[in-house]
Amino acid sequence: MISSTPMVNMGWYAQAHEPPAHEPIAAVKTALIVEDDQSIARLIRDYLDRAGYGVSLAADAESGLARTRTDKPDVIVLDLGLPGRDGIEMLRELRRFSNVPVVIVTARGDETDRVVGLELGADDYVVKPFSPRELVARVRAVLRRTERVETDIEVIRVGDLTLDIPRMRAEMKGEPIDLTPTEFQLVLTMASQPGRVFTRNQLLDAVHGVAFESYERAIDAHIKNIRRKLEPSQADPHYVVTVYGVGYRFCDD
Ligand code: CA
Repeated sequence: MISSTPMVNMGWYAQAHEPPAHEPIAAVKTALIVEDDQSIARLIRDYLDRAGYGVSLAADAESGLARTRTDKPDVIVLDLGLPGRDGIEMLRELRRFSNVPVVIVTARGDETDRVVGLELGADDYVVKPFSPRELVARVRAVLRRTERVETDIEVIRVGDLTLDIPRMRAEMKGEPIDLTPTEFQLVLTMASQPGRVFTRNQLLDAVHGVAFESYERAIDAHIKNIRRKLEPSQADPHYVVTVYGVGYRFCDD
């Protein structure tokens, strides 16, 4: 559910939108911005700074990797279009030594990079031109998800949906829903991290223990069945939302 953004250049945003007022957070989290375009980097820095994050900057992949090792940021905002080694290469290298959450910034229309980035372990993405407010929201959401992953959860509740993991039982508004093991596993994977975008490949990986599917489009067929069972309106899905050109995400409200 990525709505089409009107073509607006970043300069316009910088002038028309004052950065949001400082919002206090429990502990100061730090963000590393890897972006070669200095005006965009500074704009993102200002917004994250005012949102209460400690921010450092790197203009290429090498210094981005070096800064990750020295500064140990809580989150990285990574532009994929970098001179020299690009963002995809940096991400690949980064994942060899760090699980730090990463929000990638991709060029408009570049769905391949987006999918590859997510599969290399990026946590979310924004598409240029983006609103800095949207980026701050993504950074917050990604940090929130990382914080709650560690607990030993047996029951997950998202909206009206309840998943009883040991019993593999699903309920919507208290009414049992009959999901196959594969469908349950897919819903569980997405609902465990509401708001996170999953590519078809990632969803395929998630069900490999349950079923043998040979290609990504099989996921679409499963999603269709899940929606039929879960969604009040299939024409306007509320829970399992399509992310055009990328995959799916479970609603996070
Ligand atoms: Ca760039």
